[in-house]
Amino acid sequence: MAGAACSRNSDRSDHGASGGPVAVVASFYPLAYAAERVGGDAVSVTNLTPPGVEPHDLELTADDLEAIARADLVVYVGGGFQPGVEDAVRTESAAAVDALAGVEAPGRDGGSDPHAWLDPDSYASIVDRIAVALSEVRDGVLAPGVSGNAATLEEELAALDEAFRVGLADCSTRVMVTNHAAFAYLAAAYDLEQRAISGVSPGSEPDPARVAELADQARAEGVMTIFTEDLVSPEVAETLADEAGLETATLSPLEGLTEEQAEAGDDYLSLMRQNLEVLRDGLDCA
Ligand SMILES: [Zn+2]
Repeated sequence: MAGAACSRNSDRSDHGASGGPVAVVASFYPLAYAAERVGGDAVSVTNLTPPGVEPHDLELTADDLEAIARADLVVYVGGGFQPGVEDAVRTESAAAVDALAGVEAPGRDGGSDPHAWLDPDSYASIVDRIAVALSEVRDGVLAPGVSGNAATLEEELAALDEAFRVGLADCSTRVMVTNHAAFAYLAAAYDLEQRAISGVSPGSEPDPARVAELADQARAEGVMTIFTEDLVSPEVAETLADEAGLETATLSPLEGLTEEQAEAGDDYLSLMRQNLEVLRDGLDCA
């Protein structure tokens, strides 16, 4: 594992009491899942983004700020995905790790695209980075368990990667039309081409001309399915699908669990397996 760039408060006395579980604050679901898996029972993970909430540009409460200030470790992603969290980490001088630092972005304009967790291999790099940071908190109290837990999860991610590689090897189309541009890492990993209706953030207003252009392209290229997503209204994607005479299918960008998913016990791995089946069906893969 590479060394972690982990900023620390010079006065650590207010960071987590030394007796109880290590307090980790994760800014949204994939980071919380990784911290829970890697830290095991020895950590208590608080997810700043509640189930059903879309994490882009998350607004923090006073309780969130206090949790960030008190945490043994805050895990977040930089680059403007959740600027409020980045600001709070700075102003609260929190012990924190940017889980995305050092993860290679796909394509030449991937620099500001945070969605690395949607590629199992890039997600393994995030897991590794969180493991390094966790093994250093409280003078290494977690270190003995962390590397084994991380290795187990990384093996599961390698198996997931293999399932995607095999499952998406032979498809009628390699063009995936998506709602917001969350799938660039996944597309790059499996030789697919993402065409997104809106930008890297789902809040950006879709341009009607863009929708018409995508509909034309979709028809010309034999695309059959427009992929919507679970935490964002499918309205625009459904308009596009109607316009082009196409089906819609729902992918999870894994930015958070819906309340139903949380209740059903779904997690990163089960939802990624579902994504694979939705993609195989929508891209007509053998
Ligand atoms: Zn997103």
